[in-house]
Amino acid sequence: MFLRSFGRQLLRAPSSSSSFLSANVSRAAARSVSQAAVYRNSLFCGSRALARHHHHHAGCGCSGSASRLTTKRGSTAAGTVASEISAAAAAAGAAAGIPRMQMGAVITKHGSPEEVEFKQIPVPEPGPGEVLVNIKFTGVCHTDLHALHGDWPLPAKMPLVGGHEGAGYVVKVGDGVTDVKLGDRVGIKWMNGSCGKCEYCLSARESLCPHILLSGYSVDGTFQHYAIGKADHVTPIPDNVSLEVAAPIMCAGITVYRALKEAAVQPNQWVVLPGAGGGLGHLAIQYARAMSMRVVAIDSGADKEKLCRDCGADVFIDFRKEADVVAKVKEVTGGGAHGTLVLSTSSKSYQQATEFSRPGSTLVTVSMPPDAQLNADIFWLTVKMLKICGSHVGNRLDSIEALQYVSSGAVKPVYKVQPFSTLPQVYSAMEAGNIAGRIVLDLSL
Ligand code: NAD
Ligand code: ZN
Repeated sequence: MFLRSFGRQLLRAPSSSSSFLSANVSRAAARSVSQAAVYRNSLFCGSRALARHHHHHAGCGCSGSASRLTTKRGSTAAGTVASEISAAAAAAGAAAGIPRMQMGAVITKHGSPEEVEFKQIPVPEPGPGEVLVNIKFTGVCHTDLHALHGDWPLPAKMPLVGGHEGAGYVVKVGDGVTDVKLGDRVGIKWMNGSCGKCEYCLSARESLCPHILLSGYSVDGTFQHYAIGKADHVTPIPDNVSLEVAAPIMCAGITVYRALKEAAVQPNQWVVLPGAGGGLGHLAIQYARAMSMRVVAIDSGADKEKLCRDCGADVFIDFRKEADVVAKVKEVTGGGAHGTLVLSTSSKSYQQATEFSRPGSTLVTVSMPPDAQLNADIFWLTVKMLKICGSHVGNRLDSIEALQYVSSGAVKPVYKVQPFSTLPQVYSAMEAGNIAGRIVLDLSL
């Protein structure tokens, strides 16, 4: 019960919500998207796109054949990276070549995937302390789907360009930017910017900053060719990590890496991951294994089971087949989870997690199913001395560290590359729970 009232208090908190809103409004005004012509037709899975279509996914409405099916598992890709680095050098000299208009995926109201419109919109101008990033690849996170549906108690800017797992080259820098250079390979993440001065920013907890700017939510994100990021917050991408591999790390990777730190599970102890077969989940398995934890993955279906096992899960529990998920977790872990990251988009997972948590363990809330509540029994919470904590993305050092795991080969995102134009189909597949791992959009297609 105290958890409920605590939640209400947070939402009411005047200082954070009002400044959050004013930040939204000013950035929204600055970057308001023009209502220019719709260019849907040329974008959708035309023959040119198909020729370069890396794979075919069930959720993509095009006629790509199964022979193009490729799920990639990448840590580093020497050839790709070498060509990206020379492209970056070219980008550094090509600031003059930045167009005035660009294609963006825009929503003007919340709703279903049909709300996504591909439109010509202005290329934004980086202000003081900002950089303009030519986005080459962007992951699609379930948070983008929450933003489309409008199912969170936090207003999003409208019209909105979503997306917050972007990777590309810096093509323009605003006044006062010294550390980020033209041609730098960087990621734009959920945390687009923060004030740098509040008690949270000063203590490296910038995801709590009341002035935080959220890519693809309170400011326009990475579902466009050119996106703005605060120079202080764009994440440098290591030389041996390709942009398409880096993209899913920019939200999913950072978030689960930080949440695992919050869970404080020791080597050889059990971490339990409801939602393990999704974008966040499959990376959580790998980071957990890299930290020597043992992993129980909970999700459903043969594809996700295979993915979880390939990523290193010791145990897989199919929540649709297993009659008593709580009992099964307790059985395989010999008494319950030493730590839990709830990554599942079903609120039922939260109820189960409070029940299968081992005494003295930490339950980390990461996913945010609409209207989810945590009804933990206070008696058991107390005598089991459970810790329940939220974890919201990660700070800048978490972001750098999360990429280092990829650079060293310890973590390899599993993803399919699809054309930018297939974003609505990706949303539909995500609504149906049909995506194992991540979909990464190629902005050039
Ligand atoms: P996803 O759609 O890729 O994965 C969700 C997974 O949950 C799917 O594989 C689905 O099959 C599984 N699932 C659904 N019901 C389940 C159940 N009852 N038990 C076990 N698994 C179940 O989504 P994602 O991109 O990985 O994001 C997951 C959630 O995390 C979203 O709510 C998103 O908004 C949130 N998120 C939070 C943060 C943060 O900072 N806290 C950051 C990124 C994303
Ligand atoms: Zn995300």
